[in-house]
Amino acid sequence: MQDIRWNAFWLSLTLTVICLIIWASYSANVALFVFSAVVSIYLARHLYWLHQLSKWLKKPVLNHIPSGSGIWGDIFASLYQEHRRHSQNQTQLSSALGRFRHAASALPDGVVVLNSNNEIEWCNPPAEIKLGLNLKQDENQPINYLVRHSDFLNYLQAQEYSDPIKLKSWRNSEVTLEIQLIPFGTKQKLLICRDVTQLERIEAMRRDFIANVSHELRTPLTVVGGFIETLMDVEGAVPESTRSYFNMMLDQTTRMRHLIDDLLTLSHIESNVQAPDDAEIQMSALINMMINDAKVLSQGKHKINAEIDANVNLIGAMGELQSAMSNLISNAIRYTPDGGEIHISWGIHNKNAIFSVKDNGIGIDQQHIDRLTERFYRVDRGRSRETGGTGLGLSIVKHILTRHQARLEITSELGVGSTFSEIFPSARIVQKQPDASE
Ligand code: ADP
Repeated sequence: MQDIRWNAFWLSLTLTVICLIIWASYSANVALFVFSAVVSIYLARHLYWLHQLSKWLKKPVLNHIPSGSGIWGDIFASLYQEHRRHSQNQTQLSSALGRFRHAASALPDGVVVLNSNNEIEWCNPPAEIKLGLNLKQDENQPINYLVRHSDFLNYLQAQEYSDPIKLKSWRNSEVTLEIQLIPFGTKQKLLICRDVTQLERIEAMRRDFIANVSHELRTPLTVVGGFIETLMDVEGAVPESTRSYFNMMLDQTTRMRHLIDDLLTLSHIESNVQAPDDAEIQMSALINMMINDAKVLSQGKHKINAEIDANVNLIGAMGELQSAMSNLISNAIRYTPDGGEIHISWGIHNKNAIFSVKDNGIGIDQQHIDRLTERFYRVDRGRSRETGGTGLGLSIVKHILTRHQARLEITSELGVGSTFSEIFPSARIVQKQPDASE
C-alpha cells in the first residue's frame, strides 16, 4: 500500500514538473497534451491489469495467476502466496476431515453430524444401519423428518442433552438404542447412537433374579416368623432359658422380611418402564398423615414441626411419592438422638416444589454423601441395623424421584445434622389460589 502511494506520488510529481518545463519552453497546449497522453497511458495500463485480475478471479487457478509488472507484479505475487497458503490449509483440512470420517466410520457406534438446523451433514455406516439413514439421499435432510420416534423428538426439542435416552428401535422392536446428542462448534450437534440390547438384557436378568429370589424367600420367612411368634405366644412352649434366643430369631426374621420387601419394591420400581400416574396428590393431607406416622415412630422422643404450603399439590404416583417422602422422615428419626428436632417443609422455591426434611441428628461426613443412594451403602452399618435399616431406603427414594423427573439434594455436617430435599420440576406442580378465609 505504502509502495503504491509513493509510486503515485513520484509519478504525479515528475509529470507535473515535466509539464511545467514544457509549458515554459513551448506552450500550455503542448504541456496539456503531454499530460493527458501520459495519464491516459497510465490509466490504460492499470485498466489492463485490473481486467487480468478480474478474469483470473472468475477462475482462480494457482498456475494461471498473471505475472503483472511494476506495482501489479507485487500485487499478483502477494495474491499467489496467499492463494497458495489457503490451498495448503484446505488440503490439510480436507485430509484431517477425511481421517476423521475414516476413524468415525470404523466406530461400532452410530455417529451423525447435525448442523444448527438439525440437518444431517454426515453420518457413518453404523448410524445408517441403526437409524435407517442413507447418507447419499438424506444429506441435508432434517433428522426429525427421518427419525420419527416420539421420545427422540421430545429429546431433540427439549435441548437438555446431559443424559442419553434409551428407546426401542423402530426398525426392530427387539433392539434397544441409547442415543445422546452432544452440542459442539457453532450450534452443531453430534448424535451418538449405541445398541445397548445386550446390556439391557443382562440388567433385566439381574433385576428378575433379585425379584425371583426375594419372592421365593418371602414365603418360607413368613412361615418361620409366624411359627416363632406362635410358639412365643403359647404358654410354656418356650422355656424361659431360651426365650432370648427366640426373641433374636424373631428380630432377624423381621429384618429379613423388611429387606425382602425393600428389594421387591426396588426391583418393581426399576423394572417399571411405564410413566408414573399423573394424578393430583393433595400434598398437605399426605404430609400431615406422614407427620402423624412419624410421631408414632418417634414415640415422643423428638420434636417434630412442619411448614407446609397447603396451596401446592403434586402430579405423580401417590404410593411412590409417599414412600419417597416417608423414607426421609423415618431416616431423620432413626439418625437423630432422643430430644433432637426434625423440621419438615413443603413449598415452592425458584419455580420448583421442594419437600425437605431437616434434622439436628448425627450428620454425615462429606465423603459419604455422594454414595448414600447406592444400594446397601451405609455410613454406620451397626446403627442402620439397630434401627431396622436395610440400606435400600435412599436408593428407592432416588429411583422414585428419577421416575418423576425430580432429584434428591443432601446437605449434612457431621455432628450437626442433615437436610434431605426432594426437588420437583415445575411441570409437576399444581398451584391452587390461596383460600381467602385462610
Ligand atoms: P438405611 O436403611 O441404612 O437407613 P438408607 O438408604 O435409608 O439406608 O440410608 C443410607 C445411609 O444414609 C444410612 O445408613 C445412614 O448412614 C445415612 N443416612 C440417611 N439418612 C440420614 C440422616 N437423616 N442422618 C444421618 N445419616 C443418614
